[in-house]
Amino acid sequence: MQLLRATKIVATLGPASSDPQLLEQMIREGVNVVRLNFSHGKAQDHIDRATMVREAAQRAGREVAIMADLQGPKIRVGKFAQGKVWLEPGASFVLDASRTEPGDLQGVGLDYKELPRDVKPGDTLLLNDGLIVLTVEAVRGDAVHTTVKLGGELSNNKGINKQGGGLTAPALTAKDMEDIKTAMGFQADYVAVSFPKNAIDMEMARQLCNVAAAEYGHRPALIAKIERAEAIPRLEEILRVSDGIMVARGDLAVEVGNAAVPALQKKMITMAREMDKVVITATQMMESMITNPVPTRAEVSDVANAVLDGTDAVMLSAETAAGKYPLETVREMANICAAAEAAEDVKRDADFTGRTFGRIDQSIAMGALFTAHHLGAKTIVALTDSGSTALWMSRHRIHIPIYALTPKVATQRKMALYRNVRPLLMDTSADRDTALEQAEIHLKARQIVQPGDIYAITCGEPMGAPGGTNMLKICRVA
Ligand code: PGA
Ligand code: MN
Repeated sequence: MQLLRATKIVATLGPASSDPQLLEQMIREGVNVVRLNFSHGKAQDHIDRATMVREAAQRAGREVAIMADLQGPKIRVGKFAQGKVWLEPGASFVLDASRTEPGDLQGVGLDYKELPRDVKPGDTLLLNDGLIVLTVEAVRGDAVHTTVKLGGELSNNKGINKQGGGLTAPALTAKDMEDIKTAMGFQADYVAVSFPKNAIDMEMARQLCNVAAAEYGHRPALIAKIERAEAIPRLEEILRVSDGIMVARGDLAVEVGNAAVPALQKKMITMAREMDKVVITATQMMESMITNPVPTRAEVSDVANAVLDGTDAVMLSAETAAGKYPLETVREMANICAAAEAAEDVKRDADFTGRTFGRIDQSIAMGALFTAHHLGAKTIVALTDSGSTALWMSRHRIHIPIYALTPKVATQRKMALYRNVRPLLMDTSADRDTALEQAEIHLKARQIVQPGDIYAITCGEPMGAPGGTNMLKICRVA
């Protein structure tokens, strides 16, 4: 019997976890979505890893979604003659877009040639995730003259952020466009777009994905990584054109300041759910487990609080990609999620009396939630083609598991990210009554329901039409 856990776990694959047996174990321990980080590795590495994920999932008997995370514009310094320098506070340092020789104590070249046009005197630049802080004194041609405010070691190709945002690099680079083709080749279920500034960036990514995926008859879901200051006032328009967002706390914290991030996390999670979108909370959730076999108390609280905020999923980055304890981290995270969920107050979420619904399928979904909650039903079952019924149901916390039965494996995988949704594959008959019977047989065979149990089930007629859910039935298992 699997642990009853509603919150999903996204785990990043890397050298520490690219082993078929270990990956299978990680999926058994609770990984629902595997993230392939296109900031590292070659196309073929990702293709091989995607195959490994599908095979491991099959052995574990659980479908997982694959999320291709695009690198996006990397705004970086160039290389140093000695590989690194030590910057002293108060020293002058020049970031020069036209410099070709390797960097030294006086300055360094730039990968990102537009930087001199994006900054002005007084701006604060944060390098290496904010560990080094530079103040812009002057811009002369291609050279940005700065003073070191917070010093330290600066090594080859470290990232640059501008406090408050304002770097103009487009969200999709030529590399990203190639990577989208690679990811559609193995039909990645989710594509995460790095550093989108607005809805246009996401629409552009959507078009590129749809064109690249057309020959496979595939439609990936799109996640906007919210990691730029500019994206915050545009959250609503970004959400509207995306399938979900990631609270990308790493880069976001550098741009808006650490202290602003927890409140933004809550706001983003609430907004995403209200707009019927999914949300992933990411970065440093179990950071100390990269090297330690147990998390810190603060990390335990962080994961639990994201769960209480209502996130669909919590994400592991270096913990599973490069850490010493990938399996232990997943196990620990799953336990924290389950314990936090048990502490939730669900009364408010189960009350829809103040809400109105414009769509038939949506009101059926809400009706199923309301009825199941007040009747004390064991489970809610959705026969779904596109997964949208399950998505709507999962935007509310009612502590009744939602079993989403779909004939489409792509829908099953996509739903792996939805909180409290357990996706199952079932070839549904075209005839409604037969499909309902098949569903009950399926649920009994898997011991999800037992004789005497009450469950709510939704479906559409005709069967198999996306968005066609129009029926709710309350059943007692014979
Ligand atoms: P990254 O995105 O790990 O790809 O940088 C997440 C974040 O910035 O938090
Ligand atoms: Mn990032």
